Amino acid sequence: MKAVRFHEHGGPEVLQYEDAPQPELNPGEVLVRVRACALNFLDVWERRGLEHVTIPMPHISGSDVAGEIAASAAPGLAVGGRVMLQPGMSCGRCAACLSGRDNECPQFEALGYRNHPGGYAEYVKVPVQNLISIPDSIDFVRAAAFPLTFLTAWRMLITRARLKRGEDVLVLAAGSGVGQAAIQIALLHGARVFATAGSDEKVERARASGASDVIHHHKQDVAAEIMRLTDRRGVDVVVEHVGDATWAKSVRSLARGGRLVTCGATSGPQVGIDLRALFAKQLSVLGSYVGTKGELLRAAPFFFAGQLQPVIDRTFPLAQAAEAQRRLEASEHFGKIVLEV
Ligand SMILES: [Zn+2]
Repeated sequence: MKAVRFHEHGGPEVLQYEDAPQPELNPGEVLVRVRACALNFLDVWERRGLEHVTIPMPHISGSDVAGEIAASAAPGLAVGGRVMLQPGMSCGRCAACLSGRDNECPQFEALGYRNHPGGYAEYVKVPVQNLISIPDSIDFVRAAAFPLTFLTAWRMLITRARLKRGEDVLVLAAGSGVGQAAIQIALLHGARVFATAGSDEKVERARASGASDVIHHHKQDVAAEIMRLTDRRGVDVVVEHVGDATWAKSVRSLARGGRLVTCGATSGPQVGIDLRALFAKQLSVLGSYVGTKGELLRAAPFFFAGQLQPVIDRTFPLAQAAEAQRRLEASEHFGKIVLEV
């Protein structure tokens, strides 16, 4: 099969479009003919190389996949069925998995990360429980753009931050995949949404996606704006995934009893916190990592019904994966960048 692999860490130029062996199925696994694979920043991290993480080489990235069932070593599946894939891989047998907390499995990791070759290829294999059937009304590009970011944002807002109708939410980086998903999920659950963006164009597009106010984070002070917009109260929930560059202002934007939930550290992982604010304002700081299969199954019907819609930045053919990652790294995109296979 054709695949995009890297044999060493480095810049986008290490990504090579080349022949690779087709995955061989074990019992319970399904081979999927990939039709679309969306990019995530995880793809860039693993290509650059991470401290204390060994990536087996050559490596195929890609966590967000949609395609057709090509072969099955699991009973009861029709070849040709249209599916999107659960991005969370877990053992399926441990106490965490069997309690529905599969993202707490000791073996949990994203498809396309480390030990699970991903969707930058014509074929990918996954356990049968990672398949989600998609209706004919949903095209492969949109189906590939949905799972990881919407699952991540769903878990952050609904499971971890326990968002309630009528609450105020601040979503950082509205142009990112998680940012877009978080805005939509918060609106779906009856919240008022504020967002930040880093260019005039992204501010306009974030406003069009339903945020009641969008703050230009290079031109305005985010915490000061949030206090002005909420009559000095602050927001109930901040959706963080930026880290060092935004953390202090995210904390300052919280109302009493507010929850800051984070799933990433794109700008740097080391942050400080003023404990006086933490206890006196009774704040909660919550970590969140991808999500469970059950959470994605709960979110998916809203996608199929058109109430949650991944925003597509643009598509590239698989062979141009390096170009696609350059666009992601340059932060030129708004919404998901998707490879068509
Ligand atoms: Zn497990």
